Amino acid sequence: ATPTSIMVGTGRAAQLGILFRQGEALQTLMDVRVVAVDKTGTLTRGYPELADLTVAKGFDRDQVLALVAAAESRSEHPIARAIVAAAEKQKLPIASVQNFESLTGLGLRAQVDARQILVGSDRLMMQHKLDPAVFSTIASKLADEGKTPLYVAIDDKLAAVITVADSIRETTPEAIAALHEQGLKVVMVSGDNQRTAQAIARQLNIDEVVAEVMPDAKADTVRRLQQTYGPVAFVGDGINDAPALAVADVGIAIGSGTDIAMESADVVLMSGDLTHVSQAIAMSRATMRNIR
Ligand code: ADP
Ligand code: MG
Repeated sequence: ATPTSIMVGTGRAAQLGILFRQGEALQTLMDVRVVAVDKTGTLTRGYPELADLTVAKGFDRDQVLALVAAAESRSEHPIARAIVAAAEKQKLPIASVQNFESLTGLGLRAQVDARQILVGSDRLMMQHKLDPAVFSTIASKLADEGKTPLYVAIDDKLAAVITVADSIRETTPEAIAALHEQGLKVVMVSGDNQRTAQAIARQLNIDEVVAEVMPDAKADTVRRLQQTYGPVAFVGDGINDAPALAVADVGIAIGSGTDIAMESADVVLMSGDLTHVSQAIAMSRATMRNIR
């Protein structure tokens, strides 16, 4: 490719809000076979809301919500914001927190009002020898609707299941349809629950799902996709996405995401509109066609 045609191509893309941090990415994009996409904050808005809270026998709903919200008030995870907002809406008192510990990709642990609070995935509960199966009917039903189940243990007793729901971005369905029209495979990569991820993938017609991926394993998933299918573009927004963005043949970050995601990316989308991914690919193909 000539430097001039690349400059023209990246200039046009910039007018649409597609920023090529690397001119070379415009050349690499045309070879991409797979678009791997983070779920939370990329396919979805990233602003979950509390959908349901079911307590075990002997526990009070408002009391559980108040304790969990206190613990979550120290977390920066989008799930934490949803729980704190729900407690604030009900004007529940938020107690002070001791010994807060964030368990990346799993949940958190903290002490609230002299009680030991553990909140997070079923995997986290099992690690603490707590069996989430008592909530399996409600948890599976809500997960099949695309909601994320979280479990709460208070003083080593399973106390509640909470589900949070994050809505799909308006432009996501057409973005996936456009990628399919371009002959690309679309793969979801998520730290979320397997059932929840599958439900969202079904709604969006996504080809393959890799779920319950621990934060540092997203890059390994990209490597495996590269070996199986060829060049991969990864689209993500979060801190956890930075290694995958770096490993991908083309890393595409959402401009409203974290700084570290943007620094690791080759391309930054100024809006959260995923249709810009297929537009960028179309521009890459057009630019390279004019040159060859
Ligand atoms: P995602 O890729 O969906 O953002 P993460 O890797 O951040 O997922 O988290 C994976 C899972 O760990 C979540 O689906 C949730 O079950 C649990 N988790 C993480 N952080 C928290 C938190 N602050 N409170 C409760 N659960 C959490
Ligand atoms: Mg995300």
